[in-house]
Amino acid sequence: MTDQGVDTLLLSVGHDLPYLTGYEAMPLERLTMLVVPRDGDVSLVIPQLEAPRVIEQPGVFGLVPWGETEDPTAIVAKLASGARTVAVGDQMWARFLVELLPQLPDASYRRAVDVVGPLRRVKDDAEIEALAAAGAAVDRIARELQSGAIPLVGRTEAEVSAHLSARILEEGHDVVNFAIVAAGENAASPHHHAGSRVIREGEIVLCDFGGTMAGYCSDTTRCVVTGEIPADIAEAYEVLHTAQQAAVAAAEVGTPCEEVDRTARRIITEAGYGEYFVHRTGHGIGLEAHEDPYIVEGNDLPLAHGHAFSVEPGIYVPGRFGMRLEDIVVATDDGPRPLNASDHLLATVDG
Ligand code: ZN
Ligand code: ZN
Ligand code: ZN
Repeated sequence: MTDQGVDTLLLSVGHDLPYLTGYEAMPLERLTMLVVPRDGDVSLVIPQLEAPRVIEQPGVFGLVPWGETEDPTAIVAKLASGARTVAVGDQMWARFLVELLPQLPDASYRRAVDVVGPLRRVKDDAEIEALAAAGAAVDRIARELQSGAIPLVGRTEAEVSAHLSARILEEGHDVVNFAIVAAGENAASPHHHAGSRVIREGEIVLCDFGGTMAGYCSDTTRCVVTGEIPADIAEAYEVLHTAQQAAVAAAEVGTPCEEVDRTARRIITEAGYGEYFVHRTGHGIGLEAHEDPYIVEGNDLPLAHGHAFSVEPGIYVPGRFGMRLEDIVVATDDGPRPLNASDHLLATVDG
């Protein structure tokens, strides 16, 4: 906070609060707010009825419960009074901020990610193992998909998505975050919403799925073809596979995030598919499925030991097919450590 010139940090719903305190606020209209002054005691302003859910940590924060007829914003404003620069969490509800603004008229505001992001994006050993366990769990599902144990032909994308979701929970996740299933031409839309489209023989099926397990997220993408692999798909996939592996290998400590993106993009562009790679190469992952650091052109942040992120280039040819290959990778002092190990080749399944 001193480095960033922040006087008071305000964190409400979202993941910064549980990261720092172990307490996750219910995403409801009653205000919960951690008030962190640069110097002085930290307060957790919390609805009285939620206070029993907090595991108290004297020395870290004090509880300030508010009753149903009190104005919690006034309590926060009082605790933050005198602050010139206030940093607020990305996921704080607009209504809390809108109510707070007139009560702290002299303050200027900025994003708390400048303070909390550098802490959260470096994972410690326990966090890396939590990500690895979640990754291993979705790998077991990916292998089922690749072995043909998950039926595809004749089912709708939505049915396969429901199947993947059930398996994500069975494999120990607490929540399913997404289970994208996109068949044939639908795979050309990177975040396609699985629908009533029936999967046919001889087409690519893109599956991108993940959840949250013991607080940490998984996220992997594998593609399979139902039957014989069409020549155009085989050719593009070979380029994608080479690009993804090169980008993983480039993810050394000290390498700028954008250089990992460039590594994948260069290979895909040189093979003539550049215009079909329409998104960044990856995103950080941890408590959130998408968080700092982003693997994108323009992000010159050098990778550090403990940075965890996806490497997921894709090739999307509108009206024809789409494909993506995604692993979670941790930058370590011993080199890039992929947390997904299911087969990277394009599997053929009978359906
Ligand atoms: Zn995505
Ligand atoms: Zn994904
Ligand atoms: Zn991802």
